[in-house]
Amino acid sequence: MLKEYMMKLSSLHGVSGREHEAREFVREELSRYCDEVSVDALGNVIGRIGDGDFKIMFAAHMDEIGMVVRFVDKDGFIRFTTIGGVFEQNLLARKVVIRTSKGKVYGVIGSKPPHIMKEEERKKPVPLEELFIDVGARSREEVEKMGIRVGDPVVIVSEIFELPNGRIVGKALDDRAGCAVLLELVRRVSKMKSQLKDISVYFVATVQEEVGLKGARVVAFKINPHVAFAIDVCPTGDHPGVKEEDVPVKLGKGPTVTVVDGKGYGLIAPENLIQAVIKIAEKKKVPYQLEVAEGGTTDATIISLTREGIPATAISIPLRYVHSPVEMLAIEDAENTVKLCEAIITEASLLMDAVNFRKGKN
Ligand SMILES: [Zn+2]
Repeated sequence: MLKEYMMKLSSLHGVSGREHEAREFVREELSRYCDEVSVDALGNVIGRIGDGDFKIMFAAHMDEIGMVVRFVDKDGFIRFTTIGGVFEQNLLARKVVIRTSKGKVYGVIGSKPPHIMKEEERKKPVPLEELFIDVGARSREEVEKMGIRVGDPVVIVSEIFELPNGRIVGKALDDRAGCAVLLELVRRVSKMKSQLKDISVYFVATVQEEVGLKGARVVAFKINPHVAFAIDVCPTGDHPGVKEEDVPVKLGKGPTVTVVDGKGYGLIAPENLIQAVIKIAEKKKVPYQLEVAEGGTTDATIISLTREGIPATAISIPLRYVHSPVEMLAIEDAENTVKLCEAIITEASLLMDAVNFRKGKN
Protein backbone atom coordinates (compact mmCIF):
# COMPACT_ATOMS: atom_id res chain seq x y z
CA MET A 1 0.00 0.00 0.00
CA LEU A 2 2.91 2.34 0.68
CA LYS A 3 3.63 3.05 -2.98
CA GLU A 4 -0.06 3.43 -3.80
CA TYR A 5 -0.47 5.90 -0.95
CA MET A 6 2.52 7.85 -2.19
CA MET A 7 1.30 7.98 -5.79
CA LYS A 8 -2.13 9.15 -4.70
CA LEU A 9 -0.95 11.70 -2.13
CA SER A 10 1.58 13.31 -4.47
CA SER A 11 -1.18 13.97 -7.01
CA LEU A 12 -3.37 15.86 -4.54
CA HIS A 13 -3.53 19.63 -4.27
CA GLY A 14 -2.66 21.16 -0.88
CA VAL A 15 -0.74 24.41 -0.71
CA SER A 16 -0.15 25.53 2.90
CA GLY A 17 -3.41 26.65 4.50
CA ARG A 18 -5.45 25.09 1.65
CA GLU A 19 -4.80 21.42 2.36
CA HIS A 20 -8.44 20.34 1.76
CA GLU A 21 -7.81 17.71 -0.91
CA ALA A 22 -4.95 16.02 0.93
CA ARG A 23 -6.84 16.26 4.22
CA GLU A 24 -9.95 14.52 2.88
CA PHE A 25 -7.91 11.58 1.66
CA VAL A 26 -5.88 11.30 4.88
CA ARG A 27 -8.98 11.64 7.06
CA GLU A 28 -10.79 8.89 5.19
CA GLU A 29 -7.86 6.50 5.42
CA LEU A 30 -7.28 7.22 9.12
CA SER A 31 -10.98 6.62 9.77
CA ARG A 32 -10.61 3.10 8.41
CA TYR A 33 -7.96 2.11 10.92
CA CYS A 34 -8.09 4.38 13.99
CA ASP A 35 -10.19 4.19 17.16
CA GLU A 36 -10.88 7.89 16.87
CA VAL A 37 -10.30 10.57 14.22
CA SER A 38 -10.83 14.32 14.50
CA VAL A 39 -10.00 17.49 12.61
CA ASP A 40 -9.09 20.63 14.56
CA ALA A 41 -9.79 24.30 13.79
CA LEU A 42 -6.61 24.75 11.72
CA GLY A 43 -7.31 21.58 9.72
CA ASN A 44 -4.87 19.15 11.34
CA VAL A 45 -6.15 15.57 11.21
CA ILE A 46 -5.64 13.55 14.39
CA GLY A 47 -6.04 9.76 14.55
CA ARG A 48 -5.57 7.62 17.64
CA ILE A 49 -5.09 3.90 18.23
CA GLY A 50 -4.97 2.52 21.77
CA ASP A 51 -5.81 4.22 25.05
CA GLY A 52 -2.83 3.53 27.30
CA ASP A 53 -1.22 6.20 29.48
CA PHE A 54 1.97 6.62 27.45
CA LYS A 55 1.26 8.87 24.47
CA ILE A 56 3.41 8.66 21.34
CA MET A 57 2.75 11.07 18.50
CA PHE A 58 3.79 10.75 14.86
CA ALA A 59 3.28 13.83 12.68
CA ALA A 60 3.65 14.28 8.93
CA HIS A 61 2.73 17.52 7.19
CA MET A 62 0.10 17.56 4.47
CA ASP A 63 0.84 20.98 3.05
CA GLU A 64 3.07 21.61 0.05
CA ILE A 65 4.87 24.71 -1.15
CA GLY A 66 3.18 26.53 -4.01
CA MET A 67 1.75 29.83 -5.09
CA VAL A 68 -1.28 31.99 -4.56
CA VAL A 69 -3.15 34.31 -6.94
CA ARG A 70 -2.29 37.92 -6.06
CA PHE A 71 -3.60 40.07 -8.93
CA VAL A 72 -5.43 39.68 -12.23
CA ASP A 73 -4.69 42.34 -14.85
CA LYS A 74 -7.18 43.75 -17.36
CA ASP A 75 -5.94 41.42 -20.12
CA GLY A 76 -6.50 38.35 -17.94
CA PHE A 77 -2.93 37.60 -16.91
CA ILE A 78 -2.49 36.45 -13.33
CA ARG A 79 0.27 37.62 -10.99
CA PHE A 80 1.07 35.41 -8.05
CA THR A 81 3.22 35.18 -4.97
CA THR A 82 4.96 32.13 -3.57
CA ILE A 83 4.01 30.22 -0.41
CA GLY A 84 6.83 28.50 1.45
CA GLY A 85 10.36 27.85 0.23
CA VAL A 86 9.77 27.92 -3.53
CA PHE A 87 12.94 28.13 -5.61
CA GLU A 88 11.88 30.68 -8.20
CA GLN A 89 14.00 29.20 -10.99
CA ASN A 90 11.78 26.10 -10.85
CA LEU A 91 8.73 28.10 -11.91
CA LEU A 92 9.55 29.18 -15.44
CA ALA A 93 7.56 27.54 -18.27
CA ARG A 94 5.58 25.22 -16.00
CA LYS A 95 2.05 23.96 -16.38
CA VAL A 96 0.06 24.92 -13.27
CA VAL A 97 -3.34 24.23 -11.76
CA ILE A 98 -5.37 26.77 -9.81
CA ARG A 99 -7.85 25.46 -7.25
CA THR A 100 -10.95 27.68 -7.42
CA SER A 101 -14.37 27.54 -5.80
CA LYS A 102 -15.68 26.30 -9.17
CA GLY A 103 -13.06 23.59 -9.58
CA LYS A 104 -9.63 23.33 -11.13
CA VAL A 105 -8.35 25.65 -13.81
CA TYR A 106 -5.17 24.90 -15.77
CA GLY A 107 -2.68 27.42 -17.04
CA VAL A 108 0.99 28.00 -17.80
CA ILE A 109 3.64 30.27 -16.37
CA GLY A 110 4.60 32.49 -19.24
CA SER A 111 7.59 34.76 -19.80
CA LYS A 112 9.40 36.65 -22.49
CA PRO A 113 10.91 34.32 -25.17
CA PRO A 114 14.71 34.28 -25.49
CA HIS A 115 14.49 35.73 -29.04
CA ILE A 116 13.55 39.11 -27.71
CA MET A 117 15.79 39.09 -24.67
CA LYS A 118 18.95 41.12 -24.51
CA GLU A 119 22.20 39.14 -24.22
CA GLU A 120 22.51 40.13 -20.54
CA GLU A 121 18.90 39.15 -19.72
CA ARG A 122 19.39 35.65 -21.13
CA LYS A 123 22.17 34.92 -18.64
CA LYS A 124 20.11 35.80 -15.58
CA PRO A 125 17.21 33.99 -13.91
CA VAL A 126 13.84 35.61 -14.64
CA PRO A 127 12.68 37.45 -11.48
CA LEU A 128 9.41 36.41 -9.86
CA GLU A 129 7.75 39.77 -10.54
CA GLU A 130 8.14 39.18 -14.29
CA LEU A 131 6.39 35.79 -14.19
CA PHE A 132 2.64 35.46 -14.72
CA ILE A 133 0.03 32.76 -15.26
CA ASP A 134 -1.82 32.56 -18.57
CA VAL A 135 -5.08 30.58 -18.31
CA GLY A 136 -6.17 31.31 -21.87
CA ALA A 137 -8.45 34.17 -20.87
CA ARG A 138 -8.70 37.41 -22.86
CA SER A 139 -9.79 39.69 -20.03
CA ARG A 140 -10.09 40.03 -16.26
CA GLU A 141 -13.82 39.28 -16.63
CA GLU A 142 -13.09 35.95 -18.31
CA VAL A 143 -10.70 35.03 -15.49
CA GLU A 144 -13.41 35.86 -12.94
CA LYS A 145 -15.95 33.76 -14.87
CA MET A 146 -13.60 30.80 -14.60
CA GLY A 147 -13.98 31.14 -10.83
CA ILE A 148 -10.47 32.42 -10.20
CA ARG A 149 -10.17 34.82 -7.31
CA VAL A 150 -7.39 36.57 -5.43
CA GLY A 151 -6.08 34.11 -2.81
CA ASP A 152 -6.71 30.93 -4.80
CA PRO A 153 -3.87 28.39 -4.37
CA VAL A 154 -1.75 27.30 -7.32
CA VAL A 155 0.53 24.30 -7.75
CA ILE A 156 2.83 23.11 -10.52
CA VAL A 157 1.44 20.14 -12.44
CA SER A 158 3.87 17.24 -12.16
CA GLU A 159 2.76 13.66 -12.51
CA ILE A 160 4.41 11.11 -10.27
CA PHE A 161 6.34 8.32 -12.02
CA GLU A 162 8.79 5.50 -11.35
CA LEU A 163 12.40 5.15 -12.40
CA PRO A 164 14.72 2.13 -12.04
CA ASN A 165 16.02 1.03 -8.62
CA GLY A 166 12.74 1.77 -6.87
CA ARG A 167 13.06 5.49 -7.40
CA ILE A 168 9.88 7.55 -7.34
CA VAL A 169 9.73 11.06 -8.78
CA GLY A 170 7.00 13.62 -8.20
CA LYS A 171 5.88 16.87 -6.67
CA ALA A 172 5.04 17.41 -3.01
CA LEU A 173 6.85 14.27 -1.84
CA ASP A 174 7.86 16.78 0.85
CA ASP A 175 5.90 15.73 2.77
CA ARG A 176 3.25 13.54 1.17
CA ALA A 177 5.86 10.77 1.27
CA GLY A 178 5.77 11.26 5.05
CA CYS A 179 1.95 11.18 4.94
CA ALA A 180 2.13 7.90 2.97
CA VAL A 181 4.43 6.46 5.65
CA LEU A 182 1.99 7.65 8.31
CA LEU A 183 -0.98 5.95 6.60
CA GLU A 184 0.91 2.71 6.00
CA LEU A 185 2.03 2.79 9.63
CA VAL A 186 -1.57 3.19 10.81
CA ARG A 187 -2.66 0.30 8.64
CA ARG A 188 0.00 -1.98 10.16
CA VAL A 189 -0.47 -0.77 13.74
CA SER A 190 -4.23 -1.38 13.53
CA LYS A 191 -3.41 -5.07 13.07
CA MET A 192 -1.33 -5.27 16.24
CA LYS A 193 -3.70 -3.43 18.55
CA SER A 194 -3.57 -6.17 21.19
CA GLN A 195 0.15 -5.42 21.70
CA LEU A 196 -0.49 -1.77 22.56
CA LYS A 197 -1.41 -2.30 26.21
CA ASP A 198 0.12 0.70 27.92
CA ILE A 199 0.32 3.14 25.05
CA SER A 200 -1.79 5.39 22.86
CA VAL A 201 -0.43 6.19 19.43
CA TYR A 202 -1.46 9.44 17.74
CA PHE A 203 -1.16 9.71 13.97
CA VAL A 204 -1.30 13.33 12.96
CA ALA A 205 -1.29 14.99 9.54
CA THR A 206 -0.38 18.63 10.12
CA VAL A 207 -1.06 21.82 8.16
CA GLN A 208 1.10 24.86 7.37
CA GLU A 209 4.47 23.29 8.16
CA GLU A 210 6.15 24.97 5.19
CA VAL A 211 5.15 28.41 6.45
CA GLY A 212 6.30 28.22 10.04
CA LEU A 213 5.41 24.84 11.61
CA LYS A 214 1.99 26.21 12.52
CA GLY A 215 -0.26 23.16 12.61
CA ALA A 216 2.12 21.07 14.71
CA ARG A 217 2.24 23.79 17.36
CA VAL A 218 -1.46 23.59 18.20
CA VAL A 219 -1.79 19.86 17.73
CA ALA A 220 1.08 19.11 20.12
CA PHE A 221 -0.56 21.36 22.69
CA LYS A 222 -3.83 19.48 22.35
CA ILE A 223 -2.41 15.96 22.48
CA ASN A 224 0.41 16.72 24.94
CA PRO A 225 2.33 13.53 24.05
CA HIS A 226 5.17 12.08 26.14
CA VAL A 227 7.30 11.75 23.03
CA ALA A 228 6.86 12.81 19.41
CA PHE A 229 8.32 12.11 15.99
CA ALA A 230 7.97 14.22 12.88
CA ILE A 231 7.96 12.03 9.78
CA ASP A 232 9.42 14.22 7.06
CA VAL A 233 11.98 14.28 4.26
CA CYS A 234 15.56 15.55 4.16
CA PRO A 235 17.90 16.63 1.36
CA THR A 236 20.63 14.31 0.13
CA GLY A 237 24.11 15.10 -1.10
CA ASP A 238 24.49 12.14 -3.44
CA HIS A 239 24.32 13.94 -6.77
CA PRO A 240 26.42 16.45 -8.71
CA GLY A 241 26.72 19.87 -7.14
CA VAL A 242 26.91 18.79 -3.48
CA LYS A 243 29.97 17.50 -1.65
CA GLU A 244 29.64 14.40 0.52
CA GLU A 245 31.13 16.20 3.52
CA ASP A 246 28.53 18.94 3.16
CA VAL A 247 25.49 16.63 3.01
CA PRO A 248 26.39 12.98 3.72
CA VAL A 249 22.78 11.71 3.55
CA LYS A 250 22.24 9.29 0.65
CA LEU A 251 19.28 7.69 -1.07
CA GLY A 252 18.83 4.01 -0.21
CA LYS A 253 20.67 4.07 3.13
CA GLY A 254 17.59 4.25 5.34
CA PRO A 255 15.68 7.01 7.11
CA THR A 256 17.59 9.74 8.89
CA VAL A 257 17.23 10.42 12.58
CA THR A 258 17.72 14.12 13.26
CA VAL A 259 20.14 14.91 16.05
CA VAL A 260 20.51 18.60 15.18
CA ASP A 261 19.03 20.75 12.43
CA GLY A 262 19.16 24.43 11.50
CA LYS A 263 22.62 24.61 13.13
CA GLY A 264 20.94 24.11 16.49
CA TYR A 265 18.52 26.99 16.00
CA GLY A 266 16.05 24.38 14.81
CA LEU A 267 16.03 21.13 16.75
CA ILE A 268 18.56 19.70 19.17
CA ALA A 269 17.04 16.33 19.99
CA PRO A 270 17.45 14.96 23.55
CA GLU A 271 20.42 12.62 23.85
CA ASN A 272 18.41 9.88 25.60
CA LEU A 273 15.81 9.90 22.87
CA ILE A 274 18.40 9.57 20.10
CA GLN A 275 20.08 6.72 21.96
CA ALA A 276 16.74 4.93 22.37
CA VAL A 277 15.92 5.29 18.66
CA ILE A 278 19.37 3.98 17.70
CA LYS A 279 18.93 1.03 20.05
CA ILE A 280 15.52 0.24 18.56
CA ALA A 281 16.78 0.53 14.96
CA GLU A 282 19.74 -1.74 15.66
CA LYS A 283 17.66 -4.30 17.54
CA LYS A 284 15.21 -4.52 14.63
CA LYS A 285 17.97 -4.26 12.02
CA VAL A 286 16.49 -1.21 10.32
CA PRO A 287 19.12 0.86 8.48
CA TYR A 288 19.32 4.52 9.55
CA GLN A 289 21.46 7.61 9.04
CA LEU A 290 22.15 10.11 11.82
CA GLU A 291 21.63 13.63 10.59
CA VAL A 292 23.09 16.95 11.59
CA ALA A 293 21.59 19.43 9.15
CA GLU A 294 22.81 22.97 8.72
CA GLY A 295 19.66 24.33 7.10
CA GLY A 296 15.96 23.62 7.41
CA THR A 297 13.90 22.21 10.22
CA THR A 298 10.73 20.18 10.82
CA ASP A 299 7.60 20.02 12.95
CA ALA A 300 9.72 18.28 15.63
CA THR A 301 11.21 21.66 16.55
CA ILE A 302 7.93 23.35 17.42
CA ILE A 303 6.57 20.20 19.08
CA SER A 304 9.65 20.10 21.35
CA LEU A 305 8.88 23.65 22.51
CA THR A 306 5.24 22.98 23.39
CA ARG A 307 3.92 23.31 26.93
CA GLU A 308 6.74 22.31 29.32
CA GLY A 309 8.83 20.75 26.55
CA ILE A 310 8.17 17.49 24.70
CA PRO A 311 11.02 15.12 23.72
CA ALA A 312 10.93 14.99 19.93
CA THR A 313 12.96 14.25 16.85
CA ALA A 314 12.43 13.81 13.13
CA ILE A 315 12.63 10.59 11.18
CA SER A 316 13.07 11.53 7.55
CA ILE A 317 13.03 9.93 4.14
CA PRO A 318 16.07 11.02 2.10
CA LEU A 319 14.84 13.09 -0.85
CA ARG A 320 16.75 14.44 -3.83
CA TYR A 321 15.82 17.80 -5.40
CA VAL A 322 13.68 18.90 -2.43
CA HIS A 323 11.20 21.70 -3.14
CA SER A 324 11.22 21.06 -6.88
CA PRO A 325 8.42 19.43 -8.94
CA VAL A 326 10.69 16.42 -9.49
CA GLU A 327 11.57 15.36 -5.97
CA MET A 328 13.08 11.84 -5.96
CA LEU A 329 13.13 9.16 -3.27
CA ALA A 330 13.93 5.46 -3.01
CA ILE A 331 10.87 3.43 -2.04
CA GLU A 332 13.04 1.19 0.21
CA ASP A 333 13.85 4.24 2.37
CA ALA A 334 10.14 4.93 2.81
CA GLU A 335 9.56 1.26 3.66
CA ASN A 336 12.38 1.39 6.24
CA THR A 337 10.85 4.57 7.68
CA VAL A 338 7.60 2.66 8.26
CA LYS A 339 9.62 -0.18 9.83
CA LEU A 340 11.50 2.15 12.17
CA CYS A 341 8.29 3.86 13.31
CA GLU A 342 6.64 0.47 13.81
CA ALA A 343 9.65 -0.67 15.89
CA ILE A 344 9.41 2.51 17.98
CA ILE A 345 5.85 1.51 18.85
CA THR A 346 6.58 -2.14 19.60
CA GLU A 347 9.66 -1.19 21.65
CA ALA A 348 7.91 1.67 23.44
CA SER A 349 9.28 0.55 26.82
CA LEU A 350 12.71 1.78 25.69
CA LEU A 351 11.17 5.18 24.96
CA MET A 352 9.45 5.26 28.34
CA ASP A 353 12.86 4.86 29.99
CA ALA A 354 14.41 7.48 27.71
CA VAL A 355 11.83 10.14 28.62
CA ASN A 356 11.56 9.10 32.31
CA PHE A 357 7.97 7.97 32.03
CA ARG A 358 6.76 6.12 35.09
CA LYS A 359 3.35 4.57 34.95
CA GLY A 360 0.84 6.31 37.20
CA LYS A 361 3.11 9.29 37.82
CA ASN A 362 3.02 11.17 34.53
ZN1 LIG B 1 8.73 18.95 4.87
